[in-house]
Amino acid sequence: MTIIKIEQHCPCCNKKIKISIVYTMSMFGINTELSCIGPCRNSPIINVCTFCNYVFIDCHQSIIKKKLLQGLVNSLWYSDLYNRHYKSQPFYLLFGLYKILGLSAGLQNEMLRYNYYGSNKIKDLELLCEQYEILLQSYDKLDGLYFFMQLMIGEYNRRTRQFEKAKDIFMKLKQTTKSDMDERELQLIHKRCDFQLKLLKQKNDKLEIYKF
Ligand SMILES: [Zn+2]
Repeated sequence: MTIIKIEQHCPCCNKKIKISIVYTMSMFGINTELSCIGPCRNSPIINVCTFCNYVFIDCHQSIIKKKLLQGLVNSLWYSDLYNRHYKSQPFYLLFGLYKILGLSAGLQNEMLRYNYYGSNKIKDLELLCEQYEILLQSYDKLDGLYFFMQLMIGEYNRRTRQFEKAKDIFMKLKQTTKSDMDERELQLIHKRCDFQLKLLKQKNDKLEIYKF
């Protein structure tokens, strides 16, 4: 994996700052928590502006309204969020910011997913899965995100030894034969379910690598 530094204007205060970006990476496999294995990153690089303390990841800047952002970043609310979370849980800070900015639930949840990948704490996985459950209540597509959320909830249940609950989820996914994805992608999901069901039979509650 190669990370390089480039010069850019801060998306908030417009001063010139140096930010890091991922230049190349490669992936060798995937874990049951759907994070990658290899010289790859499971989350984007966090950058912070040394002038205004704006914490950001580069890929979402185009959808954030600048005027709203500047007011927020200058507020006491933001400095409190920054002081509490920047060092320990920067993606949790972004979750808070995205929520206030009114960005989609999908983007908010993405921040919680990176937050979990950074901490590896089951309570952070629980927080993420709670949000997935809420989103799924009104989710009417059978697309990649749908299966991703279900696989993560199944993983959470297995890791917390709620084996029956996990089994129901993976069985249900296996019985879903029509989806908004192509045939090959759906087959891959079914294989992941088979692997999870095998772990459930063994009452395995550990993080594993998908092998099939
Ligand atoms: Zn700035």
